[in-house]
Amino acid sequence: MKIHPMFRKVANIAFALFFLMTASGLTIQENFCYDKLISVFIDKTSEKCCDTPCPGCHIKVVTFKIADTFLNASKK
Ligand SMILES: [Zn+2]
Repeated sequence: MKIHPMFRKVANIAFALFFLMTASGLTIQENFCYDKLISVFIDKTSEKCCDTPCPGCHIKVVTFKIADTFLNASKK
């Protein structure tokens, strides 16, 4: 099977961009009100959940560091 050269180019650019984004660490913040997901922020930490903070509000921060994963995997 032959891969179209254009597709390969696009895939390489997409991977490069993805790597650049994740190399420095990508932080995703999810704001929950009880079990309900209110909002998602990318690379932003806001303390706000609901417009008026309530006892059920809590924030989940997820950090991706793909570069570290690659480095750790190569050491094994
Ligand atoms: Zn809330």
